[in-house]
Amino acid sequence: MGIPYTGRFAPSPTGLLHAGSLVAALASWLDARAHGGQWQVRIEDVDTPRCVPGADQAILQQLAVCGLVPDGSVLRQSQRDEHYAAALQTLVEKGWAYPCGCSRKDIELAAAHSVARHQAAVYPGTCRHGLNGKPARAWRLNVQAVQNALGLPTLTHWSDRRLGPQQQNVCDEVGDFVLRRADGLWAYQLAVVVDDAAQGITHVVRGQDLADNTARQIVLQAALDLPSPKYLHTAVVLGENGEKLSKQNGALALDLSDPLAALQQAAQVLGLPIQPKQDNFLSQALAAWSDKYLLHDQGLRAVAPSQSRTQSCMG
Ligand code: GLU
Repeated sequence: MGIPYTGRFAPSPTGLLHAGSLVAALASWLDARAHGGQWQVRIEDVDTPRCVPGADQAILQQLAVCGLVPDGSVLRQSQRDEHYAAALQTLVEKGWAYPCGCSRKDIELAAAHSVARHQAAVYPGTCRHGLNGKPARAWRLNVQAVQNALGLPTLTHWSDRRLGPQQQNVCDEVGDFVLRRADGLWAYQLAVVVDDAAQGITHVVRGQDLADNTARQIVLQAALDLPSPKYLHTAVVLGENGEKLSKQNGALALDLSDPLAALQQAAQVLGLPIQPKQDNFLSQALAAWSDKYLLHDQGLRAVAPSQSRTQSCMG
């Protein structure tokens, strides 16, 4: 028997899977299977203007071609408005969320005066104590109010299963972050926290480019009285410009005429020693993943991969 485990892969359907997104899909699948747990897929289509019609189905097909098939039904963020609204309402009632009337330009100007050392504009809390006659645009979390009320430390600490101990001062490094955007769409941070809890996610495995969001999500989980999953952030695929490969910087859709080659490339990014051209790729990758991560997790022992779970086209 493994520990209770539910993991997830949470693609945004802004296009097809590319080499970088397959790394997150494979890693989260391997970790779930290695723990003998559940692996769910959540379609993060909350940012509707950026979503490409049909991309959700296409992504699920791409995953299936690679032998990565979710347990249970697929959750779609576009159908979960009322849950995000309820979470925001809870925060408003506690006095931990407030409307903000600042435009991006206002924030950049104010931030430039107050905290010039940060590259990304830290929200300086302009509307924390009132809108000053401006119309409300976005909703933000009052981070300090949450930390004070719950007795949370100013530095949010967490231990990443790959990166080790991490910390962030959310107030100083990010500021009061957005829960609902000025365009009325739900912010990623709110949706991801509400949904990870709703799906009973115990372990989040995703790309290292998202590691910087974790402290915010931990504060928000505490504010909503939700449990925090364990986190593991994987290496990411870099494009030619040295930045993380993404649809925005022209990543090509995966060529799944040879799914094994695509999976092997993803395994290589994850640092898994896989023999070339093995037809039982997923079983091998599972053993390699267990050696690399499970045996190192305190109190965990590798769980033998179950036969049925690994019987797919990738064997
Ligand atoms: N939807 C996000 C993405 O595609 C992933 C969010 C997450 O794993 O927390 O980058």
